[in-house]
Amino acid sequence: MQPDVDVLVIGAGACGLAAAIAAHDSGISVAIIEKLERPGGNSSLSTGSVPAAGSRFQREAGIVDSPERFLADLVRTSGATDCPGLVRRLVETSAATVEWLADSVGARIALVTAYKHVGHSAPRLHAPVSRRGQDLVDDLVGAVETRGIPLAVGNGALALLPDGSGGVIGADVETLNGKRQRIIARKVMLAVNGFAGNRDLVARFCPEISGAQYFGARGSTGEAVLWGERLGAAFGNMGAYQGYAAVSDPHGSILSWTTIEKGGIIVNGAGRRFGDESAGYSGYTPNVMVQGGRCFAIFDQKIFDVATAEEEFVELANYGGVKKGATPADLAKLHRLDADAVMAAVESYNKAARGEQPDAFGRRDFALAPLNGTLYICRVVPGLFHTQGGLMVDNDGRVLRPHGQPIANLFAGGGAAAGLSGRTGAGGYASGNGLLSAIGLGRLAGLAAAQEVKSRTA
Ligand SMILES: Cc1cc2nc3c(=O)[nH]c(=O)nc-3n(C[C@H](O)[C@H](O)[C@H](O)COP(=O)(O)OP(=O)(O)OC[C@H]3O[C@@H](n4cnc5c(N)ncnc54)[C@H](O)[C@@H]3O)c2cc1C
Repeated sequence: MQPDVDVLVIGAGACGLAAAIAAHDSGISVAIIEKLERPGGNSSLSTGSVPAAGSRFQREAGIVDSPERFLADLVRTSGATDCPGLVRRLVETSAATVEWLADSVGARIALVTAYKHVGHSAPRLHAPVSRRGQDLVDDLVGAVETRGIPLAVGNGALALLPDGSGGVIGADVETLNGKRQRIIARKVMLAVNGFAGNRDLVARFCPEISGAQYFGARGSTGEAVLWGERLGAAFGNMGAYQGYAAVSDPHGSILSWTTIEKGGIIVNGAGRRFGDESAGYSGYTPNVMVQGGRCFAIFDQKIFDVATAEEEFVELANYGGVKKGATPADLAKLHRLDADAVMAAVESYNKAARGEQPDAFGRRDFALAPLNGTLYICRVVPGLFHTQGGLMVDNDGRVLRPHGQPIANLFAGGGAAAGLSGRTGAGGYASGNGLLSAIGLGRLAGLAAAQEVKSRTA
C-alpha cells in the first residue's frame, strides 16, 4: 500500500511537535493530527520547564553541572524504575535537547537561576521567561508552520492500523466534519500523553490518587494504554504520577509552591499540620489526599513578596484566592477554622524554625520561616496533573513487547511512554520530568523514525 506520509504523528503537544520537527529536518515527510480544536495539550498548561545538565546556558551562567549529577538526582528522587537505560539516555542528551530547542526550533527559553527545583541539586531548568508552557508550545507550533508541516486540529485518531504481521501502518482518524479517514504511514509516532483524564485507568493503575480532581488538559484519555494493550506492548512505571498538593480552591489555579518551599505550612480542616511539607508539591500530594477534604496553606508577608515574581500567583492574589490577617486567629476566622489549633500549629512550627525544638513532622528546611508579621492563607485541594507510566520504549522511542522486541513502525514519547519518575506514587517526580520525556524523547524518536525511513527507501 502506498503510504500517504513517511511519519504520522498523533498528538500535538510538546512531544508530537518536537518529533515532527526533528523528523522533517532529517528530510522525510511528516503530518501531525490533533484531536482537540487546538494544539498544546498539557504542555500548554505546564510552566514549560525542561531540565538539562551541561548546557551552554548553564556554562554561561557559571553553573557547574553534569549528566552524572543529574542522573544521581533523578535516581535518588525516583527510586526504582522500569527503564533505567532510558532515564540515562534522556539525561545524557538533555543539553543537546535544550540547545536544539533554542537553536533549531527558535524557542525563547532561558535558564532559571533564581532558585533550584524539586529533585534537583543544581539550577538546570530551562523555561520561557514567562514560565508559561503556552509560550513554548507557540514556538514549537511556529517552527512547524515555518517548515510547512501539515498540522490538522480536530482530527482524532480512533485506532492504529495493524500491518498484519504485528506492526502498524497508520491510523484511522475521525476528521473535523465527522468523517472517517485512513492514513497510511511508514512510521507512527504516538504522542498522545498519558491517562490522567481517564478515570477507569487512573483507578486501575494509580488508585491512591483516583479520588483527586484532574487538573490537566482534556486530551489525556489514555489511548496509548488502550491501543498498546491490543498490540501486546509492554508497559512500565504505571503507578507513577505527578500530583500537586496545593491547587487553590475554588479558583483552580496552582498556588505557587514557592509559598511552601520558602517556609509556609499546610494545615487541615481541623487547623492542624499533618506532615513534612518539604516532600515537595508532588510528593506531598498523598498526605493532603488522606486529610479527606480541603486544606489551608499559611505563609507570611516576606514569602508572599517572593512569590509575587510569578504571574500566576499575582493573578490568584488579585482574584482574592489569598486572604490576609494579622494573627493566626485572624486567618482561622476567615475560613471558620479552630483558632486555637491554628495558633498552636504556627507556634510549634515557628519554634522549630527558630531551632528551639525539633519539628513535629521532621521538617528541616524552613527557608524564610519563622512566620511573622502579616500572614496569608489560601484554601487548597490536591490535584492530579499527569500520569508517568506508559509504553515501554527503547532508547530511541521504539515501542517494545514484553520480551524487548520492537513493534514494527511504532514509536512513542512524552506521557505516552514510561516516564522518569520511578515505578509508583507521586514522590518520584522531579521538576521537568514530564517535558524532558516529551521533548527529549520526541526529538530522539523523530530522528530514529527518519533514519529507519531513509535506510529502507535508500
Ligand atoms: C498544570 C500542569 C503543570 C505542569 N508543569 C510541568 C512543568 O513545568 N515541567 C514538566 O516537565 N512537566 C509539567 N507538567 C507535565 C507536562 O505538561 C507533561 O508531562 C507534558 O506536557 C506531556 O507532553 P506530551 O506532548 O506527551 O502531552 P500533551 O502536551 O498533553 O500533548 C498530547 C496531545 O495529544 C492529543 N491527543 C490525545 N489523544 C489523541 C488522539 N487519539 N488523536 C489525536 N490527538 C490526541 C491531546 O489532545 C494533546 O494535545 C505539568 C502538567 C500540568 C497539568
